[in-house]
Amino acid sequence: MNIDAESDQRGVSQTTDPTKAVLSNSALHHKNLCNYVINVATGCTHGCKFCYVPSTPNIKTRGDMLKERADVEDSQREWGSYLLYRDDLPERLARKLDRKQKWENEDGGRGVVMISSGTDCYQDRRAAQITRGCVIELVNHGRPVRILTRSPAVVRDLDVFKAADGLVTVGSLIPCLDDEQVRSIEPGAPAPSTRLNALEEISNAGVPVYVSMSPTYPTQDREDLREQLRIFKERLDPDVVFHEPINPRGGNFEMTVQAARDAGQEELANELEKLRDRDNWIEYSKRQLTAVEEIGEELDIPIHLWPDKQFVKYVKEGKEHFKRQIEKNDSPEDYPLGPTSA
Ligand code: SF4
Repeated sequence: MNIDAESDQRGVSQTTDPTKAVLSNSALHHKNLCNYVINVATGCTHGCKFCYVPSTPNIKTRGDMLKERADVEDSQREWGSYLLYRDDLPERLARKLDRKQKWENEDGGRGVVMISSGTDCYQDRRAAQITRGCVIELVNHGRPVRILTRSPAVVRDLDVFKAADGLVTVGSLIPCLDDEQVRSIEPGAPAPSTRLNALEEISNAGVPVYVSMSPTYPTQDREDLREQLRIFKERLDPDVVFHEPINPRGGNFEMTVQAARDAGQEELANELEKLRDRDNWIEYSKRQLTAVEEIGEELDIPIHLWPDKQFVKYVKEGKEHFKRQIEKNDSPEDYPLGPTSA
């Protein structure tokens, strides 16, 4: 077999992705995030232990391609150690946008294109270069863009974001401000303190920002959440903070607990372990969702909760309230609504 991938100094197997996918319709309008997604690569070197992406069809159905091009035997276990770039995406996107007649604009997605949901679009220089090209094309075509990243390198495109005149919002996933806890289960990702600094620089430049507290950990009590939200308010003044607790039902939860233990985060590992019991998980989810919502109100921060459907099914107290959070399809963000056709 002819493997054409090269290994970088981290041992990450890198090559190009043969996919023809450009702009994918996305179900993330249910979370008020977008109608479309662009993934600038397949794989993600951050290798977060709880990541759901390797269990999605986009990875699972492409085992032969991953084996052939990057010598991947087990796409889930090896998640974080392979990365296939889509270098020509900006050119293909430009052609697609020129031709596209109809533009989805409903169900809470507001016609927004999110970059990226299945990888980190600023994880390294090459991914960032593709991202920059895509953002420029989208803005030139008048389409709203949502950047979602864990990488402080996002500040490199501040010039593009500023010139977009409100069409681009930039967000980061900051589940917890304890760098060591986060590092234990997001081993390849930059520390949350660096994400916060980057987002602050972007916010100070007048570009709309948001935060995704996803997923928060069972070690965070109400005071921790309050302090975290207070810092967001003071340093970022975000348009919205999305929040969801961690979900122990994913197939990789065991790897998450083990990673925390291996990194010496015993308390985190033990608290995560307890969430395997459904009643404990319901109780913890309710406590955190309620706390974040109440503190947001107190501190005047727009909060958007993402309660899990299984949680809503089993929670007894406040069921209707949490159900409404799932069903609502408005957002406090001040996006200009894009045209529905070209
Ligand atoms: S940054 Fe996102 S896509 Fe990358 S491994 Fe972490 S959760 Fe998965």
